[in-house]
Amino acid sequence: MSETKTIGFVGVGNMGAPMVRNLAKAEIPVLAFDLDRQALARVTGGSNLVTAAASLAEVGAKCATVITMLPTGANVRDAVLGEGGIASKMAEGGIIVDMSSSEPTGTVALAKELEARGLHLIDAPVSGGVPGAVNATLALMTGGEDAPVARVEGVLNAMGNIFRTGPVGSGHAAKALNNFLSAASLAATSEALLVALKFGLDGAAMADIWNASTGRSNATENKLHQHILNRKFAAGFTLKLLNKDVGIARSLAEQLDVRTDTLDRVSALLGDALEELGDEADHTALYKYLEGISEGRDGGKADR
Ligand code: NAD
Repeated sequence: MSETKTIGFVGVGNMGAPMVRNLAKAEIPVLAFDLDRQALARVTGGSNLVTAAASLAEVGAKCATVITMLPTGANVRDAVLGEGGIASKMAEGGIIVDMSSSEPTGTVALAKELEARGLHLIDAPVSGGVPGAVNATLALMTGGEDAPVARVEGVLNAMGNIFRTGPVGSGHAAKALNNFLSAASLAATSEALLVALKFGLDGAAMADIWNASTGRSNATENKLHQHILNRKFAAGFTLKLLNKDVGIARSLAEQLDVRTDTLDRVSALLGDALEELGDEADHTALYKYLEGISEGRDGGKADR
């Protein structure tokens, strides 16, 4: 049986807002909450199927299924188990679906604590960026027990495509590793472009050539023309969040005792770039940071 009752949705930022709009498009009523009242007003303004909750506890009290789409696993834990949080008022049998890119061991621990209260946790982090969220084509890496996952299938299908990864926490592990791959290709693509330009090659032509060649990746296809060459640097995914994800992948490798030289280097690079560019910088601004280093400048600060 798939749930069709009002879905709680906590966190309506860059990703959450278009995901809520797709739930409404699929005729699924949503009770939304965000600490940012303006973000909340934007998402409730667009459809009469989306209403605003006054608190996390109200979301838990009124919804048998609650989705979280927050920056970090620590934010999710606070929102769920903190004082006046979602779990404080949720009826037994309720399902929390954490679609944020959280830290997998924290997710496993949270699932155990919720289980003791008769609540289920599913992790269903997403990939596809803001365009995937807008077009409902997100890849949903879904961990958890079969029965609760079956209950939220209809809801998840309204936002993207489900890929089962295994038990709770496995989706978050899969997602962190995906973002390591994504960050590594962004770094490599940025460096390749810097060398190409210095050699006198045309950047736009190189993007077209790489997109028709074996160097093709999400970075070459969806970032070069769209955000780097035109210097917009506005993909809607912050460097801060990418750095968090690659850090999660790195600590996973450490815990599992796997040697990962490339992962370690990409993680260090993102940390340095974040320090230079600041919390608000888009992840595609990594190019600007590499350009700055290469030119012996201040990491692109002057260019901001
Ligand atoms: P965002 O910062 O744009 O949105 C997060 C929202 O959560 C904000 O509106 C903020 O006000 C709200 N919030 C924070 N703490 C809260 C709390 N305790 N209670 C209620 N609301 C709270 O972030 P985003 O880019 O939408 O990313 C959300 C998650 O999705 C992150 O885990 C991110 O890593 C992941 N993700 C992002 C992208 C992307 O392209 N932006 C792609 C895939 C996955």
